[in-house]
Amino acid sequence: MNRQKAPKGIEWTRIRQADGRVLPGYTWNPTGGCLHGCTWEMPDGSVTECYAKTVAERIARNSYVHGFEHHYWRPKALNDPLRLRDPAGIFVGSMADLFGHWVPREQIVQVLDVMGEAHWHTFQTLSKYPLRLPEFDFPENVWVGVSLPAGHTMSAKGAARALSAYLRHMEAIEASVRFLSIEPLWFDAAPVFARWLAERERLPFEWAIIGAASNGRRLFQPQPAWTESLLELLDAQGIPVFFKGNLAWHEWRDEFPL
Ligand code: SF4
Repeated sequence: MNRQKAPKGIEWTRIRQADGRVLPGYTWNPTGGCLHGCTWEMPDGSVTECYAKTVAERIARNSYVHGFEHHYWRPKALNDPLRLRDPAGIFVGSMADLFGHWVPREQIVQVLDVMGEAHWHTFQTLSKYPLRLPEFDFPENVWVGVSLPAGHTMSAKGAARALSAYLRHMEAIEASVRFLSIEPLWFDAAPVFARWLAERERLPFEWAIIGAASNGRRLFQPQPAWTESLLELLDAQGIPVFFKGNLAWHEWRDEFPL
């Protein structure tokens, strides 16, 4: 496990508790690599790839000898959270999608078992393959996240369709906290939630993270109307909202589902 505090980009792993204490945040990667190949088109036409891929292939090449688009199983890292005695927020798979379709089920179950055993920590997972999430039993101390569809070849309409499907999978997840990472907010997602709420009472998640887009050199803010309508919906549902540090907004939000 990365014994450094979670990098600035993963500030939501430093969880503020009900009594105001903030847990230290760490990343833990018992698996590595990802086959999703996410890319985003920025409003200036540039296409940016996954940050983890850039790190793996430029900075951490020794740990990613077959490149980033490869599955790595790191059993030696498996018990790291058990050795960390003080409660922490631990983001699982900052360099992977633990629930990717290519990850053997036995490995996922082993990782979940460790999370359950290390009950004094709060673990956060994040996947772009929510179809698989309802298959698993999540320990109480695991927050299960899904992140917005990505893909520079995907239209906003296609992304909205994908997000609707994501919500249906999220509805079937049994976890103490389900969350949606809306980062970057690159299309108008609120109408998807509004359509969902036209048929049901609740959105199928308990926490939302919102962020801007970045190509590493420049930040691109979502259209204010997208953020505005999204916040209106989330507030009406009583869903806590956490803003990534890269989001420019007049009223700061760093709420946790506690
Ligand atoms: S799912 Fe995450 S780790 Fe995998 S390519 Fe996409 S952004 Fe990168």
